[in-house]
Amino acid sequence: MERFILSLDQGTTSSRAILFDHEGRIRAMVQEEFTQYYPKPGWVEHDPRDIWRCQLKTGRLAIEQLGIRAEQIAAVGVTNQRETTIVWEKESGQPVYPAIVWQCRRTAGMIDKLVEEGWSEKIKAKTGLIPDAYFSASKIAWILENVDGAREKAEHGELLFGTVDTWLIWNLTGVHVTDYTNASRTMLYNIHERCWDDELLDLFRIPRSMLPEVKPSSCVYGMTKPFWFGGEIPVAGAAGDQQAALFGQCCFQPGEVKSTYGTGGFMLMNTGRQAVASQSGLLTTMAASLGDEPEYALEGSVFVSGAVVQWLRDELRILDASPDSEYFAVKAKDNGGVYMVPAFTGIGAPYWNQYARGMIVGLTRSTSKAQIVRAALEAIAYQTADVCEAMEKDSGLDLMSIQVDGGASKNDFLMQFQSDVLNAVVCRPACVETTAMGAAFLAGLAVGFWENKEEIKQLWSVDALFRPQISADKRSELLDDWHLAVECALRWGNAKRERTGK
Ligand code: ADP
Repeated sequence: MERFILSLDQGTTSSRAILFDHEGRIRAMVQEEFTQYYPKPGWVEHDPRDIWRCQLKTGRLAIEQLGIRAEQIAAVGVTNQRETTIVWEKESGQPVYPAIVWQCRRTAGMIDKLVEEGWSEKIKAKTGLIPDAYFSASKIAWILENVDGAREKAEHGELLFGTVDTWLIWNLTGVHVTDYTNASRTMLYNIHERCWDDELLDLFRIPRSMLPEVKPSSCVYGMTKPFWFGGEIPVAGAAGDQQAALFGQCCFQPGEVKSTYGTGGFMLMNTGRQAVASQSGLLTTMAASLGDEPEYALEGSVFVSGAVVQWLRDELRILDASPDSEYFAVKAKDNGGVYMVPAFTGIGAPYWNQYARGMIVGLTRSTSKAQIVRAALEAIAYQTADVCEAMEKDSGLDLMSIQVDGGASKNDFLMQFQSDVLNAVVCRPACVETTAMGAAFLAGLAVGFWENKEEIKQLWSVDALFRPQISADKRSELLDDWHLAVECALRWGNAKRERTGK
């Protein structure tokens, strides 16, 4: 009887279910989008019942697509949009409020106040995070403060909190758990002592009884109720999407990095047993690991990655489709001295300046459309290189290679240029579903479907490798010019703010 792992990949805009076989191949995949709610400017919500229904449906359809029975599924793995916050009644299972999505900015004021009160260093030391409305803590506090009767019920132990992994696992099995990686994004979890932090719970006025038990990312959390998939299946893996992708990319050793090129960019570096405190504005977070021993990662993001190509396509309309960017970049032969800094909403690590704005510099009468497109793709690579350099500096680990995924990683020009400016090998895997694959690996390892990490590495195959092809002198020349361009974008933002006060 052939057996499979069912991976449930619950993303921000859609839910997906993928069945992997023992060779790590995708045998069935079903995806469904669900509704996004924007009740006020800056607010983003989901209906938790939609999330659950849509996820269950994709799981059932994937099983149907392959024509298999529940006993052929060795385990279920879950990976999820991180930080999104759900509070529900323990008894009835009914959410007391919609899910507050990670993007939602409604609690920005609450966080500003804590920063003014001087909490930043303490929060960073305990949780590895820079205080922000993005993380779950202030979202839970908001629900308790604003939903009628919620605080009272919470104090009587009648409410449960969960990130999306917890919500799904609770619905699937009835068990209230989360894993290290998701816990480490709540801003309530002490990543060094590995416990919910009493001082932070007091600060946000969150009763401990609401919180799930925190377990490793690879272990049996519970069995699915038989009516969901036609039989009991162990739910045995869970990790937040970025950490699942790091695991799915087989970045098991300290110094190994995965870089995702989606709308935004996400880089995670495995730092092994060591939780590295960043001096450059990166986050310290927990990585998915096997067993109880914790592993850590440094995380950095680029606000505008593939989105700059979208901008060329949809706003400037100089591209019909995103993949065409490669044709123009190659045609240009070089950037002709043109640099683009896509700081549309400020610039993140390692600069952290919210006033910086986008800029194209070095224009001449002979600048071509192809060079502008090339400058946009190069900017994606430069921004990634800046984050990687910060990671190397913070961790003291040398970056030899990076594993890539996400929509824009299909662009060969971009990947070659990335390798050139990083002076590292860029490795693009054959299976680009690295997030779902990570959750499948974690679940499969917990139940002995796969033996160990070595076996998993064998399943993993390379689509393309890109090796550095430019000289050290050329690399420094390019990076020096890029940094000059960033400085212009920063100066512009700062000067404008000084003059106008905004
Ligand atoms: P997300 O999951 O964040 O929505 P995806 O991983 O699907 O994003 O990647 C989509 C992004 O990648 C878009 O911004 C798109 O412009 C960009 N993109 C897709 N294909 C290419 C390509 N071949 N070259 C450059 N950019 C691309």
